[in-house]
Amino acid sequence: MKIRNGFVSNSSSSSFCILGVYFDNAKSVFEALSIEAKIEAEPSCSCDIDRESLRSDGCKFCPKCGSLLFAEPDEWDFRERLDSELSKLDIGYLSSENWLFVGCDIGSENGSNVEPTIEKMQKTHTRLKELFGDDSDIRIYSGTHNY
Ligand SMILES: [Zn+2]
Repeated sequence: MKIRNGFVSNSSSSSFCILGVYFDNAKSVFEALSIEAKIEAEPSCSCDIDRESLRSDGCKFCPKCGSLLFAEPDEWDFRERLDSELSKLDIGYLSSENWLFVGCDIGSENGSNVEPTIEKMQKTHTRLKELFGDDSDIRIYSGTHNY
């Protein structure tokens, strides 16, 4: 687990309890689900050039300014895609800057009837096994989330 401790003391925090599978980053979720991450590459500069034909000629850099023709997608590009991809698969996720869980939050229903929570946990557990396989590392994680 890579949940960081020791944040600045006056930042607000809330506790969480999650049933799910832990991932270091969004790209590895796409890989684990075998989803081709078709993320449109953005131009790196604003020069008036024919990027597509330069790319098909095997060129990687802008001939005018020397920057990359297209920027490599980063973690945040993958995270932007994650929400829609996972909702298509009928599974949720929870994330902070430093971690990401595919699964459900089971800690935000204090005082509620236990039945719906157990149903939600069972449904999520079944779905996670369908998506990531019977051997997937499904656990209950709890901690404090700092904002
Ligand atoms: Zn350029």
